[in-house]
Amino acid sequence: MLSFEICNAARLRRDAAYDGVFFTAVKTTLIYCRPVCRVKQPLTRNCSYYPTASAAERAGYRPCLRCRPESAPFCPAWNGTRSTVERALKLIARGALDRGSVADLADRLGVSTRHLARLFDQYVGASPLQTANTVRLQRAKRLLDTTADSMTEVAFRAGFKSLRRFNAAFRDLYGRSPSEIRRRAPRPAPRQRRPVTQVEARV
Ligand SMILES: [Zn+2]
Repeated sequence: MLSFEICNAARLRRDAAYDGVFFTAVKTTLIYCRPVCRVKQPLTRNCSYYPTASAAERAGYRPCLRCRPESAPFCPAWNGTRSTVERALKLIARGALDRGSVADLADRLGVSTRHLARLFDQYVGASPLQTANTVRLQRAKRLLDTTADSMTEVAFRAGFKSLRRFNAAFRDLYGRSPSEIRRRAPRPAPRQRRPVTQVEARV
């Protein structure tokens, strides 16, 4: 993980090169953000930095509704240095822990469950299950923002086993229900009817 100073300087200049590399958590609001977030800069003394979204969530922070951490590219600072963790994250992103167990995942990677847990603790800052939970909620959030799918469809497409679990996990992280979040999402602007100009009118 990068040093506090490097992260802090990157946040202060809203450096897009660090988008996805770390997340900024703000003590006073309990929200975490991408370094490129456009909201007013928090005071440095209120900030801490996490290598992944799930690490920030494990520490008790909620995703920002403005910069939408679920849309950050995936490129933590350690990317490319720990192939077992990377492979595990890819499998989790493809749903390995929505369908199977952590023990199955460890088997596929050729390591013990304990070793996998240690690697995640060290490099991701969250357990494999916490990471899978973040990934599911991120999928769901993107579906809420970009589709008109029903809540049941969103829940199942995101990898939740039931609508009830989806609602509970979502409310736990965002402090609001999925439908409340969807109501806030910016709708595509209704297509403006262009006034007929003189020229067009003549054609
Ligand atoms: Zn933000």
